[in-house]
Amino acid sequence: MNTQSKPRILFSRVEVEAAVRRLAADITRDYQDKHPLVIGILKGSFIFMADLIRFLDFPLEVDFIRLSSYGGGKQNSGKVKVEQGLRSQVKGRDILVIEDIVDTGITTAFLIGYLQQKDPTSLKLCSLMDKPSRRKIPVNVDYSGFIVPNKFVVGYGLDYDEKYRNLPDVYIVEGD
Ligand code: 5GP
Repeated sequence: MNTQSKPRILFSRVEVEAAVRRLAADITRDYQDKHPLVIGILKGSFIFMADLIRFLDFPLEVDFIRLSSYGGGKQNSGKVKVEQGLRSQVKGRDILVIEDIVDTGITTAFLIGYLQQKDPTSLKLCSLMDKPSRRKIPVNVDYSGFIVPNKFVVGYGLDYDEKYRNLPDVYIVEGD
C-alpha cells in the first residue's frame, strides 16, 4: 500500500473467509425458505456480497443501491442520498441488506428507513464489520462478522479515496 501511514493487517483473508462462512451459515438457517432479495450497498459491499452469496445455497435475488456518505475522505458528512436506486420491488419481500461496515450508523439508518417505507415483509442487516464505538444513530446489526476498533480500515472492498478495494485482506490505516 502506498499511503504515508503505515498499514497493518487487521483481518487476514483466511479470517475473513471464516467470518463469511459463519455469517452464511446463520443466514441460511434463517432464510432458506424465504427467497429473499439481497441488497448490497455500493461500493464497499461488492466483494463481501459476492463471496457471501456463493455460500448461500437457496434461491435469492440480488440488487444494489448506491448511497453517498463519505466525500472521498474519512469523515461522514451526516448527509445521505440515493445516488443509484433499486430496480427490484421491495414491497412484500424479505429483504437482507449487505453492508461492508457500520460506523456512525448514519448511512444504514437512512437506508433502513428508506426501505421500511416501501413495506417489506421483513428487513434485516448483515455487515462484515461493525464499529460500535463510533455510533451516532442506533442501528441493529442482525448478522455481524467482526467488531472493529475505532480505526480506519481498507481492503476487501473498502477504500481510502477510492483505492485499496482490491486488497484481499483488511488493513488498518494507522495515523488517523
Ligand atoms: P456510517 O454512515 O455508518 O458512518 O458509514 C458507513 C459507510 O462509511 C460504510 O459503508 C463505508 O463505506 C464508510 N466507512 C465507515 N468506516 C469506514 C472505514 O473504517 N473504512 C472505510 N474504508 N470506509 C468506512
